[in-house]
Amino acid sequence: MRKPKIVVLGAGYGGLMTVTRLQKALGQEEADIVLVNKNDYHYETTWLHEASAGTLHHDRVRYDIDNVINRSKVEFIRAEVQDIKTDEKKVILNTGEIDYDYLVFALGGESETFGIQGLKEYAFSISNVNAARQIREHIDYQFATYATEVEKKDERLSIVVGGAGFTGIEFLGELVNRVPELCREYDIDYAKVRIYCVEAAPMVLPGFDPELVQYAVALLEKKGVEFKIGTAIKEATPEGIKVAKGEEEMQEIKAGTVIWAAGVRGNHVIEKAGIDNMRARVKVNPDLRAPGHDNIFVIGDSSLIINEEINRPFPPTAQIAMQQGEVCARNLVKLVRGTEGELETFKPDIKGTVCSLGDNDAIGVVFGKKLTGTKASFMKKMIDNRALLMIGGPSLVLKKGKFNFI
Ligand code: FAD
Repeated sequence: MRKPKIVVLGAGYGGLMTVTRLQKALGQEEADIVLVNKNDYHYETTWLHEASAGTLHHDRVRYDIDNVINRSKVEFIRAEVQDIKTDEKKVILNTGEIDYDYLVFALGGESETFGIQGLKEYAFSISNVNAARQIREHIDYQFATYATEVEKKDERLSIVVGGAGFTGIEFLGELVNRVPELCREYDIDYAKVRIYCVEAAPMVLPGFDPELVQYAVALLEKKGVEFKIGTAIKEATPEGIKVAKGEEEMQEIKAGTVIWAAGVRGNHVIEKAGIDNMRARVKVNPDLRAPGHDNIFVIGDSSLIINEEINRPFPPTAQIAMQQGEVCARNLVKLVRGTEGELETFKPDIKGTVCSLGDNDAIGVVFGKKLTGTKASFMKKMIDNRALLMIGGPSLVLKKGKFNFI
């Protein structure tokens, strides 16, 4: 009998969790497992704000996929996924096409610009390792140019972060530590630097405990961040951004660097494939399959799960992507083996959330307990290390883990 072929798209948190669980659970004779990813490495998306600010080298945030897959059980294809022909059970890659019996879509999310003019052209987004390197180098370049130009353009030293959600705040936490170093490196007066956080919503870190948010805002303000809350970015231009607060007149903020960190959507390949979606996210069935597609699982940032307590979608997180990977793998094993009974229902188990504010500060709620400062920062590093442990075991933690606890 022909073995079923499981194709997993994406070697992020969700994809690698699925593959590492499948390779343990299934024998070689039970199924062919194929993993497709753009690069031959995995990157820790949750660490990209550090590489973007330049507080962590970009090589620290990635590791070779070969470190965690068993090549005798998993075929790895380095390629870019372009489309899925669901009727023909085929994935179209930039290098050719492959067929599947079961598909796991785990290509992550993309930046959502909500149609704001100029953002795609003039703003950066913290989306992958190379984008992070580009942001770091761009900021460096602005400081170096300022230091050497005769007619100084102060706006080169202005940095705008669009969005006071998780990504925006974590990036700012790194930036306020990196900028003083840059000033020293390039002999620049720190007073000349302006760092803005522009947020359309009336609050910072929506959904977070208000006391913890206050802690984060006070800390970032003390280190020089100017918050513009309830202020919408209307346009990005080569010179900076245009903003408006309520009915007030539009204002311009000139800035050499604009980072857009305010929105996530699913992966565009979902839309191209014609699978029902909302902003490229698939409202999956309880067993993580796409409605109407019994052989396609969608996990991670391209999936949408409703938090019934508040009747709103869960925010896309690595925590959820990894938990989905485990359930997805177990459900695939059931399908491959034709085991009786229903597939497992996915229920997120939110153990806590920690938002870092630089290397040794953070805020968070873990197992219902509020934490700030070094304790929260310690927890954040433990969470980062746990993700490595879950996917690659203790050897990966030793190789890539964070142990700078003080
Ligand atoms: P990803 O981990 O993003 O992986 C997707 C993979 O697919 C990547 O390897 C990518 O290269 C590959 N890929 C994409 N497109 C293609 C293609 N067309 N062809 C082939 N391969 C492709 N979440 C938390 O839980 N805690 C945090 O503290 C946290 N902090 C964050 C900080 C930042 C700066 C950011 C940006 C996000 C943060 N998140 C955090 C969110 C978290 O990173 C995402 O929810 C998580 O990465 C989603 O996992 P995923 O498996 O869906 O996709």
